[in-house]
Amino acid sequence: MINYDYLIVGAGLFGAVFAHEMKKKGKKCLVIDKRKHSGGNVYCENVEGINVHQYGAHIFHTNDKEIWDYVNSFVEFNRYTNSPMANYKGKLFNLPFNMNTFYQLWGVKTPKEAQRKIVEQVEKLAISTPSNLEEQALSLVGTDIYEKLIKGYTEKQWGRNATELPAFIIKRLPVRFTYDNNYFNDKYQGIPVGGYNKLIDGLLDGIEVRLGIDFFENREKWMGIAEKVVFTGKIDEFYDFKFGDLEYRSLRFEHEVLNEENFQGNAVINYTAFDVPYTRIIEHKHFEFGTQSKTVITKEYPAKYEKGKEAYYPVNDERNMELFTKYRDLAKEEKKVIFGGRLAEYRYYDMHQVLAAALKATR
Ligand code: FAD
Ligand code: UDP
Repeated sequence: MINYDYLIVGAGLFGAVFAHEMKKKGKKCLVIDKRKHSGGNVYCENVEGINVHQYGAHIFHTNDKEIWDYVNSFVEFNRYTNSPMANYKGKLFNLPFNMNTFYQLWGVKTPKEAQRKIVEQVEKLAISTPSNLEEQALSLVGTDIYEKLIKGYTEKQWGRNATELPAFIIKRLPVRFTYDNNYFNDKYQGIPVGGYNKLIDGLLDGIEVRLGIDFFENREKWMGIAEKVVFTGKIDEFYDFKFGDLEYRSLRFEHEVLNEENFQGNAVINYTAFDVPYTRIIEHKHFEFGTQSKTVITKEYPAKYEKGKEAYYPVNDERNMELFTKYRDLAKEEKKVIFGGRLAEYRYYDMHQVLAAALKATR
């Protein structure tokens, strides 16, 4: 029996924004999620008074004032600016690649000296049009930075050679000839005061949410319960993998409570050498300038994706994009189902992009 206007599969950001907007338009929504909590990957757990980002560090950033005002209408954001450090074989470097990094690497003090150093290295390589992540990185920052700060991190993160990855992934990181350690170029940035759950709770306020329910366990029932279905899970799974499996990258998080106030002095430290098995250590209290007597850290280990594990990152290489196009073509024909979010659109979306996509879908 049809009881709802919309069934929304997935209580992550896409699902929560969609439900919120539709409720405002007077529609009746039901949100289901297979996890035991809402929020998808932005979910936080409170441990020792600290908001622990359960699925990896989440820093909100956007250039779009409309998106910034939208999230701020649910929760206040603090002034946190992401400025991670990189640890390569025991030495520390600032990220993203900027004058501080160049000074630490080469002792150069002026932008001209730094540019000269990079150009020297890049010219030797004679790469005309970068066709993969390795070539893209080498032509942006040269051999030294590539070898110390990119290659090892990238190859463990993605479980493959940097020559087999799309170039766009490395373009997420700014390269600057100023002494500026801000990881993002966007105008607005911060962390919700009190954690991301406040944002999600605000979005889902007054909406029926049922947790611990996997859509695929009773697909017919869920398809029949609403006029329309919004699906934010894996698109290949929706189509029973009929064209083949899309590749994803997974992660394993190791959370630890430490009986000390300040473990590493920064929220994010990346470990860029290949022989350290994790990519980063997050110290959560620093996102909110916490002064608790204990601290919580998370080591983030890249992991092979297998069915049953969480699919964190789409692997947007040529082979997967070709496969995805086939699924997307089927999706376009659906009259009843709307596909949205990181998994259903198979896109390396950040939060602000998911929000924008969800708002667009509701319009
Ligand atoms: P999700 O959050 O994945 O939500 C999808 C939901 O659907 C999940 O809760 C899932 O359980 C549910 N679901 C799936 N299949 C089913 C099913 N069959 N039945 C029922 N429920 C189902 N973005 C930033 O802007 N800044 C950052 O710093 C940042 N850091 C990140 C770090 C990591 C490690 C990762 C993995 C992502 C990061 N992101 C960051 C991206 C951000 O997490 C996503 O853009 C955003 O959370 C995606 O929202 P979503 O709703 O599309 O997907
Ligand atoms: N990257 C790197 N060294 C670093 C940080 C990032 O080589 O210290 C590369 C790596 O390939 C990574 C990509 O840049 O996958 C994007 O980094 P980002 O921090 O945006 O990744 P996310 O937070 O989305 O995992």
